[in-house]
Amino acid sequence: MRADLAAAAEAARGFLPPEEGRALFAAAAGVPATVAGPFLEIGSYCGRSALFLGAAAEARGTVLFCVDHHHGSEENQPGWPWHEPDLVDPATGRLDTLPTFRRTVEAAGLGDTVVAVVGASTTVARHWTTPLAFLFVDGGHGSDPAHDDFEQWAPKVAPGGRLAVHDVFPDPADGGRPPYEVWCRALASGAFEEISVCGSLRVLERLDRALAVTRRP
Ligand code: SAH
Ligand code: MG
Repeated sequence: MRADLAAAAEAARGFLPPEEGRALFAAAAGVPATVAGPFLEIGSYCGRSALFLGAAAEARGTVLFCVDHHHGSEENQPGWPWHEPDLVDPATGRLDTLPTFRRTVEAAGLGDTVVAVVGASTTVARHWTTPLAFLFVDGGHGSDPAHDDFEQWAPKVAPGGRLAVHDVFPDPADGGRPPYEVWCRALASGAFEEISVCGSLRVLERLDRALAVTRRP
């Protein structure tokens, strides 16, 4: 990874530990050149993971679409542990991470590679038809949002492409269940095979097989 982009990514606000960010970069950069399609992430917040993935997209000559409504997840709202009060827009009283996201991406020089798609991930998914070379799922971690994202987005990963899921905690003592359940469903679908693990980041490869979407737990 280019040293200046690695430094910018590690300095960006966000939740992805640097080691997992580098693993994310490596996973995206390692998608075989024969697999066509852009990269897409769900859950961008202030742009940290977008810089790791954007660096890989730029190196490959493709783009990264970043889907986020920018109003934060449940755990980012006032009164929750992951709330950052300076990200509240004083005009609306709502959390708004879009200005910080844009500043972060442009300061890193990735303005032509990283494309913000501002909206709810299920709304975007309903209209999205382009197969993806890489999909990173790090949006809402509640049961419905996490399972909706899996059901609606995982089928869009091209054969040979990759699906990365963040905050996968096999031990319930370490964190919430839904991302772990999503990872289990991806494996159970028969259409994905695990290729790497770094912290709570799990990377799977899409096999050239139909995805049998199993029941929600
Ligand atoms: N990947 C980021 C962290 C993402 S935090 C990093 O590297 O730091 C989760 C993000 O998901 C929040 O910004 C929140 O606004 C977004 N999000 C949650 N539910 C969403 C939904 N249903 N549609 C779009 N974005 C959503
Ligand atoms: Mg995360």
